Amino acid sequence: MSEGGEPSRKEKWSPGTEVVGRFNFDGTSRDDLPFRKGDILTIVAASKDPNWYKAKRQDNKEGMIPSTYVQQRSAVKLHAMPWYHGKISREEAERLLHPRKDGLYLIRESVNYPGDFTLCVCFEGFVEHYRVFRQNNLLTVDQEEYFENLTKLVEHYQADADGLCTRLRKALDKQGQLDYDIDRSEFRKAGWAIARKDLVFGQRLGGGEFGEVFNGDYRGMKVAIKTLKDEQAVQAFLAEASVMTALRHPHLVQLLGVSLDGGPGQPIYIVTEFLAKGCLVDYLRSRGRSLIRKKDQAEFSRDVASGMAYLESKNLVHRDLAARNVLVSTEGKAKVADFGLAREATHNLEGGKFPIKWTSPEALRHSKFSTKSDVWSYGIMLWELYSFGRVPYPRVPLAEVTQHVESGYRMESPDNCPPEIYSIMKRCWDIKPELRPAFSLLYGELDVLAAKS
Ligand code: ADP
Ligand code: MG
Repeated sequence: MSEGGEPSRKEKWSPGTEVVGRFNFDGTSRDDLPFRKGDILTIVAASKDPNWYKAKRQDNKEGMIPSTYVQQRSAVKLHAMPWYHGKISREEAERLLHPRKDGLYLIRESVNYPGDFTLCVCFEGFVEHYRVFRQNNLLTVDQEEYFENLTKLVEHYQADADGLCTRLRKALDKQGQLDYDIDRSEFRKAGWAIARKDLVFGQRLGGGEFGEVFNGDYRGMKVAIKTLKDEQAVQAFLAEASVMTALRHPHLVQLLGVSLDGGPGQPIYIVTEFLAKGCLVDYLRSRGRSLIRKKDQAEFSRDVASGMAYLESKNLVHRDLAARNVLVSTEGKAKVADFGLAREATHNLEGGKFPIKWTSPEALRHSKFSTKSDVWSYGIMLWELYSFGRVPYPRVPLAEVTQHVESGYRMESPDNCPPEIYSIMKRCWDIKPELRPAFSLLYGELDVLAAKS
């Protein structure tokens, strides 16, 4: 369903489907469930009338809603940019662009103007290099046509040369790891847009990878708001949100929406549910052995395994699982957060900024990220959990960790850690990824252990 378009009447929503209000609905009878534009509702049941559904509001109140007043929320997809070759030199681009067929093209990061791009196009046996620069956070070649992202720019010049030597005819595909682009209007279309005016900022919670994280209020709901400081990171920031649009699980931090009104150049916020007890590593350190019981630890282990088993079932790889990226709710439930590096298992990311002590040897050495490299990180997280928030590999200098681990060294059991748990850690740290247990299996084992403790 497109925004503003006729809502489809054929749509049949099954119980549990999430929909979001497109307009305010006051209701006319007692059976109706009033809601406002932007409210999130869950379908409870269809009715005889295909235009009416029984639904539940966030405050658990149930009633009838007209389907034409709401739209279903759907996942936002990333677009691969096979023609984007990243930081390669002008000479390298010219070397790659063969045969010099008219319209064969690629895009690279500008060497002379970091943050800008260069569009390289073959024409009459030569390569033309056009500078693509950023103005008010939009991209332009000629200061006449402006684009939100590279994908849109490519689409435009594929259709029409519009001042270039030729239209773009054939992309020179990059080999190996691809970059991704995202179209912010898709968040709106998919029902994830949050109006800036509905957000009230509270206290700063911490520094995020891309900016800062605040607590706040969204229509009476306590929320966490992630902000973006560096406009150049906008694609990575939205990529994190797009991954989250496909996820819904009690042990994964829930995305509520993305605020991007005002269009390019205006601040973007990612809004998620708020977990009042903060990140697990701080929780463990501040309470320590005297307050945290074996049962709490077993339940945290199970909760994280449960969320990770769901990611595993979706073929998604987290890549940054660690106690600092697990949050604790008011009721003491653990939820996995921080999907900044999460991608489909088939996607590869260029290495470099991985948390060494948490990342498996094959991921560090050969960028081989998989659910099984997440399992390795899970083992490290268990060690953190049972040592009440200590930093892993104490006394081993960071530069020596990988070598140590590859020569067979593994951390010892934390003091007083149950042997069943330590044996799980060791299985997670098998040098052979295929021999590590699946999260679904770990979840089953930990569920039994949590029930016993
Ligand atoms: P980064 O991408 O920088 O690692 P995180 O998502 O890990 O960002 O958030 C940084 C910090 O902000 C966390 O360690 C936590 O203390 C706090 N935080 C983030 N999200 C929430 C949330 N939903 N509820 C409570 N605190 C949060
Ligand atoms: Mg983090």
